[in-house]
Amino acid sequence: MTAPRNIVILTGAGISAESGIATFRGPGGLWEGHRVEDVCTPEALAADPVLVHRFYDARRAALSAVEPNAAHRALARLDAEWPGELLIVTQNVDDLHERAGAKRLLHMHGELRSALCARCGAREAWEEPLPPGSMCATCGKAALRPDIVFFGEMPYHMDVIERALSEADLFVSIGTSGAVYPAAGFVQGARYAGAETLELNLERSAGSGYFHETRLGAAGVLVPAWVEELLAA
Ligand code: NAD
Repeated sequence: MTAPRNIVILTGAGISAESGIATFRGPGGLWEGHRVEDVCTPEALAADPVLVHRFYDARRAALSAVEPNAAHRALARLDAEWPGELLIVTQNVDDLHERAGAKRLLHMHGELRSALCARCGAREAWEEPLPPGSMCATCGKAALRPDIVFFGEMPYHMDVIERALSEADLFVSIGTSGAVYPAAGFVQGARYAGAETLELNLERSAGSGYFHETRLGAAGVLVPAWVEELLAA
């Protein structure tokens, strides 16, 4: 393979596991003890806003007790030192990439520390609990909700991500099960556009067969080693 210039990196819950944040499909297929249908769909929000808001309030509060790990720090270093194009696309709603120092970063599934007005689309930085019924300060006409992309909703930044994938010559997927679309299809898009594809994960993901190479192990070990290798080449 010739040396890459344009890199797209997709991260998932597995990159934050060593920081102490539970993955999505942990034991029993639950997210922190909840079925995703009960906390991660527009229907769930409409049916039981108190439960859904409390769930994300707890996830947001838990961010104060965790720190970026070696994998987040290695990607931030790559972001700072890589001379070519680079885009880190995260499915994570935590803020550990930015706290590690990553700049070229997009949150495709929203952010815990943000609140969204479903009526006017305004987004507000949000640190505290978000009680149902908190009014949007921008339009004053609707309640704010957690700024999380629920199942059935369109992820953020898809136009920018798709353009980056079409121009990438290296696509790397880290700590994601490959079960949630459209992110799970990025490897095929990048490969179709001619990119080399690498998976770094604890176990083979659902789409593992689409990658040119898979390295199995903990992100905190694999990612710093891969970044070192890339920057040294
Ligand atoms: P997932 O939980 O479905 O899959 C996580 C993957 O990471 C698994 O394949 C697992 O084997 C692997 N993994 C676990 N520990 C690892 C480690 N130490 N090193 C490397 N790999 C490891 O996660 P997903 O594919 O990102 O999909 C989950 C969805 O749930 C996302 O859309 C995300 O928004 C949401 N979510 C986010 C967070 C977060 O922000 N940290 C946490 C849970 C869920």
